Amino acid sequence: MASTGEVWLVGAGPGDPGLLTLRGREVLERADVVVHDRLVNPALLGLAPRARHIDVGKSPDGHGYRQEEINRLLVELAREGNLVVRLKGGDPFIFGRGGEEALALVEAGIPFRVVPGVTAASGCAAWAGVPLTHRGLASSVTLVTGHEDPGKPPQVNWQRLAAGTDTLVVYMGVGRLEVIVSELLAGGRPPGEPALLVREGTRAGQRVLYSALRELPARAAEAGIGPPALLVVGKVAALRQRLAWYEDLPLAGCRIALTRPRLTFAQPAGGGGMPSGDWEMGPWWLAGAEVGVYHLLRLQMPPDPGPLRRAVLEVGRFRFVLFTSAPGVEAFFLTLRGEGRDARSLAGCRLGAVGPGTAAALRRYGLVADLVPRTHTVEDLVREVAARIEPGDRVLLPRSDLAPSQAEVLRRAGAGEVREVVAYHAVPDEDEAARLARDVRARNVDVLVFTSASAVRVASARLAPGEAGMPQAQKAGESAVGEEFPLVVAIGPVTAAACRQAGWEPDAEAANHDRAGLLQAVVEAWRRHRAGSPGVER
Ligand code: SAH
Repeated sequence: MASTGEVWLVGAGPGDPGLLTLRGREVLERADVVVHDRLVNPALLGLAPRARHIDVGKSPDGHGYRQEEINRLLVELAREGNLVVRLKGGDPFIFGRGGEEALALVEAGIPFRVVPGVTAASGCAAWAGVPLTHRGLASSVTLVTGHEDPGKPPQVNWQRLAAGTDTLVVYMGVGRLEVIVSELLAGGRPPGEPALLVREGTRAGQRVLYSALRELPARAAEAGIGPPALLVVGKVAALRQRLAWYEDLPLAGCRIALTRPRLTFAQPAGGGGMPSGDWEMGPWWLAGAEVGVYHLLRLQMPPDPGPLRRAVLEVGRFRFVLFTSAPGVEAFFLTLRGEGRDARSLAGCRLGAVGPGTAAALRRYGLVADLVPRTHTVEDLVREVAARIEPGDRVLLPRSDLAPSQAEVLRRAGAGEVREVVAYHAVPDEDEAARLARDVRARNVDVLVFTSASAVRVASARLAPGEAGMPQAQKAGESAVGEEFPLVVAIGPVTAAACRQAGWEPDAEAANHDRAGLLQAVVEAWRRHRAGSPGVER
C-alpha cells in the first residue's frame, strides 16, 4: 500500500500569476494532484503539467463541490499517497476557508503545510496605487467580510468597525454595498471619505471605481461593477490619484491570446517567468497585459523516423545545415543522441538559424550559428545561403511537415543536393482551437497573436466570421457597436499573408520577427486602438 501523502494549502494570489510565491511554484511543479478553485489563473495550472487537475470551484449556477466534499476529497487523495496541492485564490488563511480544510486534515491525521499567498487586499491595493497604511493617514487596517451567512445573526458590527479602524477592506461585500455603506456612515465615517471598488484586481480586466463613500453604491450600479470585487474605504484611497501606475503601462487592460505550438518530444530549457512551453511570459505581464497561451498545434516526432535518422547519420556530408525553427533543432539533436552521437557530427557544417530563438536552441548543444538573417524569415535565410553556395554544395533542411519547400531557390543557386527532411509533425489540437473560439466569443480576448501561418489556419477554421456568436471584424471606417473582433498581430510576412487569407487584415506585423519584435508590434497596435477608444478608467 502507498504511504500517506500530504496536502499543501497554497495561496495562488489575486490574479496575476507572477504573484505566486517561489515556494508555491516549487510545490506545484512536484504535485501529483492540484485541487483548485474555478478562478485560479490557468497559467498557474500550467506549472503542474504532470499533475491531475481537479476543479472544485463553485460555478455561478451553484454546482461545484460543497466544503465538506472538498475536505473529504483532500483526505482521500492524500490517503492514496499523493502530494496534493490545494490551490486557493489569494491567501488560504484569509477568507479562504483554508482553516476549515486544515482542521479536517488534522482530524484525519494527514500531514499538511501552508504556503501563504498575496491576499486580494494587498494585490488590489498595490495595483490601484493605494497604500493600505500611510504615515499621517492610516495607522490601522481591518480586513472584513461583507458576506455573512444569511441564516445567522450578523457578526460584523459595522458601526463599531467604522469608528475603530482607519482603513477598511471589505471582501465579498459588493452584493450588500448599500447596507454596508449606510452602516459605515451611521458609525461616523464622513460621507465624503474616499473609497474604492476594485474588480478583477491585478488582472488586465481590472476596473477601479474611485468615489466618495456616500456616492459609491450609486456609482457602482451605474458603472455596472458587481461581485466579486473588493471595497477599500479610508483616506489612503485618495493617494491613488498620485500613485496609480498600472494604467500607464503600455499594455494595461490588454488581454492577449498567444498561439504557440506545444512541443511533445523535448522540454526546452526555459528562462524565468511563466512558461508557455518555450516562451517566457514575463515580458508580456510586465508590460501590463494578461496572456493566455493556446497550443493550437502539437509538435510530434515524425511517424516514420527513418529519413531524419539517415540525415542525422550523414550530416557530415552536408556543407550547410539550415534550421528553420527551435523545435527542428530539438528533434534533430534528440535523434542524433539516439544514434549515440553528439554535436561533433556537425563539425564541418556551416549552420544557419532562422532567428534568435533557433540560434539559442543550437547554443544549448554547444553550437554557434554561422548565419542568422536579420529579418528572421526562412526565405531570407535561404536567400543568404544561396548567395554563398558553391557549385555542388549539399544543403540539409530539417523542418516541419507543413513548411513549404525551399529546394528550388537553392538548386538554382547551384546546390548539388538539397535534402528537406521532416524533423517533426505539426498536428492541430482541436480542443485548444475550441477553447480559443470560446474565449473570443465570450469577448475575453483583445489581441490575437500569431507566430506561424499554420496556427492561423487552425484558428481561422474555428473563428470564421460566420460562426455563431463570433464577433465580426470591422472594415475600415465602420464604427464599432459592441461587435468587435480582437486585434490581430502577426510575427512576420508569411504569417500576415495567412491572416489575410483567413479574412483578417493584421492590425500590426512585427518588424523584427522574434519575441521582442512581436511585443513591440502588439504595443503599437494596442496604443493605436486605445487612442481611438475612451481609455482606461482611473
Ligand atoms: N482568500 C482570498 C479571498 C477569498 S474571498 C484572498 O486572500 O484574497 C473572495 C473575495 O475576495 C471576493 O469576493 C473579492 O471580494 C475578493 N477578491 C479576490 N480576488 C480579487 C481580485 N482579484 N479583485 C478584487 N477582489 C478580489
